[in-house]
Amino acid sequence: MAFLVKKFGGTSVGTAERIKHVAKLLHEAKHSGDDLVVVVSAMSGETNRLVALAREMMPAVVDVREYDVLVSTGEQVTMALLAMALKELGTDARSYTGSQIRILTDTSHSKARILEIEKAPILEDIKQGRVVIVAGFQGVTADGEITTLGRGGSDTSAVALAAALGCDECQIFTDVDGVYTTDPRVESRARRLDKITFEEMLEMASLGSKVLQIRAVELAGIYNVPLRVLSSFEPGDGTLITYDDGDSGMEQELVSGIAFNRDEAQVTVAGVADQPGIAFAILGPIADLNIEVDVILQNIGENGLTDFTFTVHRDEYQRVVDFLQDRLDVLGAQSVHGNDRIVKLSLVGVGMRSHAGIASRMFRVLSENGINLRMITTSEIKISVVIDENFLELGVRALHEEFELADTEVKSS
Ligand code: ADP
Ligand code: ASP
Ligand code: MG
Repeated sequence: MAFLVKKFGGTSVGTAERIKHVAKLLHEAKHSGDDLVVVVSAMSGETNRLVALAREMMPAVVDVREYDVLVSTGEQVTMALLAMALKELGTDARSYTGSQIRILTDTSHSKARILEIEKAPILEDIKQGRVVIVAGFQGVTADGEITTLGRGGSDTSAVALAAALGCDECQIFTDVDGVYTTDPRVESRARRLDKITFEEMLEMASLGSKVLQIRAVELAGIYNVPLRVLSSFEPGDGTLITYDDGDSGMEQELVSGIAFNRDEAQVTVAGVADQPGIAFAILGPIADLNIEVDVILQNIGENGLTDFTFTVHRDEYQRVVDFLQDRLDVLGAQSVHGNDRIVKLSLVGVGMRSHAGIASRMFRVLSENGINLRMITTSEIKISVVIDENFLELGVRALHEEFELADTEVKSS
């Protein structure tokens, strides 16, 4: 008997039939003796539909309070349907929104952080033998305002509940049967990992592998919540995200995965004076606009001038280019240009720490495939390159092959 949080993503609850299937899984788990807190996402496509509706009403800047009121409704539909399906099977269940269960967050609408969760009402339901179903992706401020946790935030709801309740494991059920060496939709020979360290998973998530929300991995790491990714459709043990226990062989892997991010765009401010303060003059006002900057590159100056390049989210591309265009005189720059058809491709692995030469192997393989590297950035356990988006699939597959990440059985067949 275990105390578990089980989270079901959008595809897993995408139709009435699938919700009934999830209810069946939960009914069986409950009857095998487990205590269950269940977190649900909106039915697949629903959050996108709501976001598009919001943009239709307010094309320029969406009102974040109303945005949260709107987009949090998707999860509310799923939770009630799942509770009904479970009751129909004879298992007692009760569904709650984030504000009913009091998932207390800060006031940052659309990207709120969870501060506290009231445990007592959940534990009381559990004591009464009920399955507790909680709407993912949402919370409430101390003033009673509805908040949401950012796209993919139901993962974070699940981990936060598991941490607060001291659950034995947080299980993320999705449309793939675990975390793979790379997105299996891009490389069909990707291999499922039995285990991955928190550190590596955090890098993978922050470099674009959307199988888990970054914040969820962060929280699981901080509170040491065993986190597992599994399929809603096929039985299996999935992937356990864990601290490196030394006996898993994880350290022997030079590269554990390849992540990519299609959401980036590159902006260059050309011909700026090569003098102290220029990075701040360009990026300070961008930060003030609440726009996140990712990769940053400044060329070596020549004749007192230099070029300054950085990446931002694609949705912010035009805004940033227009903003900098208006500031050309203030910056004393010659021009602003960019490209919103680029992607960031990254190799991740704790083994890189102790092995030289991974970067040069990566660059060789990419050059052999005619892929131009626009920007390069490295950290202890990752190497990222910015390339044209047309070369993404080619790059992923070439690196997957070079670092022998493929499923050996499939490979040899
Ligand atoms: P859910 O709706 O269940 O939250 P998501 O779409 O958020 O599901 O996450 C699952 C998807 O993540 C998969 O369908 C897969 O395409 C993608 N993905 C990206 N990188 C990886 C990876 N390394 N391993 C597994 N899945 C990945
Ligand atoms: N429904 C939300 C989204 O699509 C949250 C989630 O599914 O995790 O982003
Ligand atoms: Mg998700």
